Formats: sequence, structure tokens, C-alpha cells
Amino acid sequence: MTDEVKPATRRTVLGAAAALAVLPVVIPTAASAGVVTQANAKYQDKPKGAAHCAICTYFIPGPKPDANGACKQVAGSISPNGWCQFYAKKPGAK
Ligand code: SF4
Repeated sequence: MTDEVKPATRRTVLGAAAALAVLPVVIPTAASAGVVTQANAKYQDKPKGAAHCAICTYFIPGPKPDANGACKQVAGSISPNGWCQFYAKKPGAK
């Protein structure tokens, strides 16, 4: 046996490409969502003044800017226009 590295064959490359094609698209919502209940977080689906989830550091955006997303602190579907007591303005957000 030698330590020679063999170049990838066309079959190997195509096999790897096929494997990548069937990997699921990872959407960060469920995996990284929080566990605090909305009631315990005093979540509301409307802003509190200018403070709202879309500019919170814990917000995980949905597929579109106006779609519900998730939160790293609070469980469940989270409106970008919502708010809760854990609100923390994202650095640089206006
Ligand atoms: S305001 Fe509360 S619910 Fe909204 S993203 Fe921030 S921590 Fe989550």
C-alpha cells in the first residue's frame, strides 16, 4: 500500500454532487428557537413604541421580511412587529 493520493474520478465527483443535492435545506427557526413561553416573556404581536422583534438581536427572520420568524429566547412563531420583555436592540439597528 502506498501513500499516493489518487485524483478524484468523475464517478466520485458526481457521487459527491448527488449527495449534496439531497441534503435538506437548513432553516434556523426550529433548531435554534427559544424555550421561554410567549406568556412568560410577556410577548405581544405588536411593537412597544419603536421597539420590535425585527430589530431585536434575538430575532430569527422568516422567509420574507414581513413573515413571522422565530426567536432565540421565546418559543413559537414570532412576528417581526412583535415585542417581549427580553427585547434587546440589535447593534446598529435603526
Ligand atoms: S423582542 Fe422578544 S420575542 Fe421579539 S425577537 Fe426579541 S427576545 Fe424575541
